[in-house]
Amino acid sequence: MSVIVYIALGSNLDMPVNHIQRACQELGALPQTRSLQYSRLYQSVPHGSADQPDYINAVAELETRLPPSELLSMLQALEQAHGRVHSGEHWEPRPLDLDILMYGDQQIDGPNLQIPHPYMAERAFVLYPLAELVTDLNIPGYGMLSDLLQACPAGELVLLNEL
Ligand code: AMP
Repeated sequence: MSVIVYIALGSNLDMPVNHIQRACQELGALPQTRSLQYSRLYQSVPHGSADQPDYINAVAELETRLPPSELLSMLQALEQAHGRVHSGEHWEPRPLDLDILMYGDQQIDGPNLQIPHPYMAERAFVLYPLAELVTDLNIPGYGMLSDLLQACPAGELVLLNEL
């Protein structure tokens, strides 16, 4: 059975726009997966240590038959192929960050995988691009996307351009 998934893409190293555009192509080429649509690109200021470059962010909507754990492994392989080195720091700069925001309407609370992604309800760089792709959406455990957006000012989020 295929499922609609939303993936957050982020990059703040080594020509981030290129990483995001390439990653969008690569997501659509994953096995048992097809891409449905992508948001435009946004620029956001980093959380955690401000002593790093701004991020480029986008959200992709995919249809996949991959189980959640396999999808996560493939996203991590893509991150590594883009030169990502995990330092153990939570908010370290990165050439590519791929997070599973939603996997259908499933809620998963495992040691390596939490879905919906715990930060998605309060991060402008996730909610605003996601809202380009859906009219509204119930995010299990968090509520309606429209309500979350109202509670989350765009702040320093800037719309960059079209993919
Ligand atoms: P980060 O540094 O933000 O990329 O976090 C990477 C870690 O988050 C990985 O070890 C994943 O196992 C874990 N993780 C938990 N939930 C998710 C999710 N929904 N999508 C991607 N990674 C996740």
